[in-house]
Amino acid sequence: MTRLRAGAATDTGQVRANNQDAILVAEPVFAVADGMGGHAAGEIASEVAVESLQADDVSSRRALAEAVRQANRAVWERAKGDAELRGMGTTMCVVALVPGAPTDGEASGDPGDERIIVANVGDSRVYQFHDGDLIQITDDHSLVEDLVREGRLSHDEARTHPQRNILTRVLGNEPDVEVDTWEVIPQRGDRYLLCSDGLFNEVDDDRIASVLRRLADPEDVAQELVALANRHGGRDNVSVVVVDVVDDDDRAAAASATVATASQTVVSRGPTTAGGGTASSPALSTGGTSPVPVPPSAGNSSPSAAPATKAAKPRRVTWRSLLFVCCLLVVLGGAVAAVAWFARSTYHVGLDDEQVVIYRGRPGGLLWIQPTLAERTDLTLDDVPPARRAAVSDGKEEPSLSRAREYVATLEEQAEAERRRTTTTEATTTTTPSGSPTTGALTGTGRP
Ligand code: MG
Repeated sequence: MTRLRAGAATDTGQVRANNQDAILVAEPVFAVADGMGGHAAGEIASEVAVESLQADDVSSRRALAEAVRQANRAVWERAKGDAELRGMGTTMCVVALVPGAPTDGEASGDPGDERIIVANVGDSRVYQFHDGDLIQITDDHSLVEDLVREGRLSHDEARTHPQRNILTRVLGNEPDVEVDTWEVIPQRGDRYLLCSDGLFNEVDDDRIASVLRRLADPEDVAQELVALANRHGGRDNVSVVVVDVVDDDDRAAAASATVATASQTVVSRGPTTAGGGTASSPALSTGGTSPVPVPPSAGNSSPSAAPATKAAKPRRVTWRSLLFVCCLLVVLGGAVAAVAWFARSTYHVGLDDEQVVIYRGRPGGLLWIQPTLAERTDLTLDDVPPARRAAVSDGKEEPSLSRAREYVATLEEQAEAERRRTTTTEATTTTTPSGSPTTGALTGTGRP
């Protein structure tokens, strides 16, 4: 059996009046939610989401995605019924240990098949700390992260960008939401860090990693990271949950034989879509996104956080990639046209059954382009002079239709000449040199 040990801490920070973050530590499910909305709405949104998640049975990757979607509906319904709460929303990132169900099917009951499932909506994050390396598993659903992914912003620029609080996906903004999920093999010694943006906006990854490396107790880690965020300004609420894999039923030893590097321990990194299907890549999933504009000054606690018009971003489909695809299509189209022109630019004299005909195209065709019948003639193969029959059978290529006709005319002349010569020979054979009747005629008239 996999055993986990967790520690958690959450704090209002140095600037905010209240804490709109919420955390869930209910082994085997752990979550961080960062609420947004006016007055107490942000607090309510994150609370409602976490309570809904806690009430759900999370026994598979699909079940976890559905539980997050259910949390989304809970926030949406709560906001709909109260004018003061309208526009509220929350992020949510989750780590859950589920029984063996590597393909979302029925639980196998085999402890060896247990999996860590990570789910995310919004810009709270889940990191994996493996072999001393800090790896961010989740993708932020924020405007600046879209710009980073498109290569238009560096990570450092994103950290201080004035629009870094604009989220492209949250819970509670629409009746349904797309949930990204990942599946990871639990290995002894791995740590999972869940946190709100109040941590990583104040403390860089190197400092976070050094705390994870230095302190053994997950509770101490959580407290230290929150304290560090406050020492660096504490401009936002900060929440941290640390989950350690303390026993993995010796799975780590078995897994290390097949899992070569830390990055490969993420065995499945496809986001589960809102419909429960699995997309090929989280970066490509765009369905169901809905931007939530939050003024930078108010951070994620803006009272005006409200649904805006749909802006489903074709993420990673940039103008450069579109231009590349267009150029590729032009080149391919040009190549096809060139082959077609080459294949159809010539004629040949050949046979259709035993009849001599003129084809457009190359003898035998070229790639997928077969020759087509252009003209029939009155000649048969028997009419063709024996010396030319092989050429006609193989297909006598000519550069144009008129040249092909000339070749046929030559064949007809030669055939005619052959017929005349044959007739003359027969006539010569059937007469005597003095013009007397033929042997046959003599026979017919009786011997003298
Ligand atoms: Mg925040």
